[in-house]
Amino acid sequence: MEKYLKKYQAAKMYIDGQWRDAKSGATRTIIYPFDQRQIATVAEGDVADAREAIAAARRAFDSGEWAATPAVERGALVLKLAQLIERDAEELAALESWDTAKTMEESRWDMADIAGIFRYFAGLADKDGGEVIASPIPNTTSKLVREPVGVCGQISPWNYPLLQASWKMAPALAAGNTIVMKPSEDTPLTTIKVTELAEEAGFPKGVVNLVLGAGPTVGNELAESVDVDLISFTGGIETGRKIMKAATSNMKKIAFELGGKNPNIFFADLVEQDFELAVDYVLNGIFFHAGQVCSAGARLIVEESIHDKLIAAVVERARTIKMGDAFDASTEMGPLISEKHRAKVEGYIKLGREEGAKLVLGGGRPKDPALQKGFFVEPTIFTNCNTSMRIVQEEVFGPVLTVETFKTEEEAIRIANDTTYGLSGAVWSRDQDKANRVATAMRMGTVWINDFNIYFAQAPWGGYKQSGIGRELGQMGLEEYTEVKHVYQNHATEAANWFGAK
Ligand code: NAD
Repeated sequence: MEKYLKKYQAAKMYIDGQWRDAKSGATRTIIYPFDQRQIATVAEGDVADAREAIAAARRAFDSGEWAATPAVERGALVLKLAQLIERDAEELAALESWDTAKTMEESRWDMADIAGIFRYFAGLADKDGGEVIASPIPNTTSKLVREPVGVCGQISPWNYPLLQASWKMAPALAAGNTIVMKPSEDTPLTTIKVTELAEEAGFPKGVVNLVLGAGPTVGNELAESVDVDLISFTGGIETGRKIMKAATSNMKKIAFELGGKNPNIFFADLVEQDFELAVDYVLNGIFFHAGQVCSAGARLIVEESIHDKLIAAVVERARTIKMGDAFDASTEMGPLISEKHRAKVEGYIKLGREEGAKLVLGGGRPKDPALQKGFFVEPTIFTNCNTSMRIVQEEVFGPVLTVETFKTEEEAIRIANDTTYGLSGAVWSRDQDKANRVATAMRMGTVWINDFNIYFAQAPWGGYKQSGIGRELGQMGLEEYTEVKHVYQNHATEAANWFGAK
């Protein structure tokens, strides 16, 4: 797997169809979170590089050629990119695992998803023929057309680096926009690689641009620049607030996918009937990718009568989760992304104890000598939690599960909704009427009934409340990247004679 890193020892940015070093000459070292080994060196751009990329995207958009390219041709290019991603899926998966230390198995799934996302938006590119509106005025026609928004700044996070980038790149390009992509500074490799593939696919110069660098410099410039028409951001809520403020410079459109603190509600009937299934999905909900998932089921909300039995089994199974190297096929859970992030997660574990939550598993770092260089935190479970606790309200983004109990359906709903987030959640019951009532009452952008963490290109994804603005994926994910124009034509115009004509 090391062989894939060779190309990335002096990786560049892609601006106006050219691979470039940072104007300042600065570089950043990328590390493997499992053992902190240096795996790559990439250009570290700043505001000056961001400005050049924005200017290139502006020229490419304003020339009109790309937006006027027939949608079927844009779709064909996006499809070509999907095929190239499929061709190089193993290399992309390895790069994603090097960057994030998530298991190769997970990274391989991600790459299959990502190719599917480009395929889906390639297919949508030429489906919109506008709409005819029934004009109320005789002898006129009225139609609605969707046009690209323009220059799109796109900022992605480190937890699903290329997956999150693909949710932005694919619809933006299919709709005829030009883009400046900025991946997380911690995990740029797969986004660099996919930009190479976009070049190979043959996107015109200036349509796809990639700037590498930090959020407060490069990211902020994308958010603030008056030459950017739309900023799409996936990341934490505090960063979202900053970007929203910066975006007021020109009232650019904003599309936000922020955090979540997602309830996973289990009714006793299901747990009693399908005990192993319930245990399995509690574990999958929170410990997958070490909990670094915006839709992680970090809040287990369980009917009181079944709490003790379920928690005892979940704790026993969580205790055996195998932590390790992303490239070891037996690894079930990797480390956290960075020292800084581990400190944040450990801070929350300390806080949970102080708030009176009962620690029933984990809470520390693994003792295994082989794991000491990685940013590992043990699978951690707190019971006796309630919604007045910060450990329940705030996104920990680590392998930390909080457990709350309820006695009635109404109480389950009230507890689940008692958060400022509204990204996703699940309800588990074999009583389908009850499950549907609860799903209807949950104030979240996605609700799963008897499943968890399912998303696909065809269905929209996004948050209620402070979990986001707008939707990615699905038809709506394409529409985010379009402006709507109403075109009205009078076929028998008569003088208005308003200003005194005789
Ligand atoms: P983050 O907010 O720290 O960073 C995300 C991106 O924003 C990075 O590229 C970073 O460089 C950039 N950034 C940082 N400061 C900036 C600024 N001032 N201006 C512009 N850009 C800036 O988030 P993260 O830690 O990389 O990712 C984790 C967060 O992402 C979690 O909160 C998670 O819930 C969220 N997330 C949400 C979804 C979703 O679909 N809703 C998906 C994945 C991750």
